[in-house]
Amino acid sequence: MAVQEILLLGNPILRKQCSPVKNTRTAEIVETIANLRDTLQDFRKRKGFGRGIAAPQIGVTRQIIYIDFEYHGALLNPTITKRSRKKFTLWDDCFSFPDILAKVERNYSIEVSFIDESGARKKLNAEGSLSELLQHEIDHVNGILAVDRAIDSKHIILRSEYEKLSAKQPVML
Ligand SMILES: [Zn+2]
Repeated sequence: MAVQEILLLGNPILRKQCSPVKNTRTAEIVETIANLRDTLQDFRKRKGFGRGIAAPQIGVTRQIIYIDFEYHGALLNPTITKRSRKKFTLWDDCFSFPDILAKVERNYSIEVSFIDESGARKKLNAEGSLSELLQHEIDHVNGILAVDRAIDSKHIILRSEYEKLSAKQPVML
């Protein structure tokens, strides 16, 4: 169990379709979950933000995400089974491109089916911040990044420029 290096935008592993987990008790899966937890906690300590992480970000092409915000723990083979018609937009960021923000549109609420660490089938209903976080992390295990979801190419910007703009004219954003 250890903090892992986070793969960055451009690394082809981030673009892979991850494979489902069949047995949650193998050493590979148990270790991956512990590494995701440790890496997320370390990132948050160093950078001051971070609520979730996905296995491909530490180089493991398995359908595993780890959330530490409202829901706490690993979701294996997560799939979105319901989406609200209501949507909202937000500036999204990612450990794999910490200096870039992309404005994306997400469903306001979703239902996610997954298996937990013990192998039990579960459902989770999420809205608002947890909903957009889950959509971001589930995209990762399908090789999709927040920059791909940008509402258009003008809405991919550097974090430093975002901070300048929001200090001057928050309404513009
Ligand atoms: Zn991400």
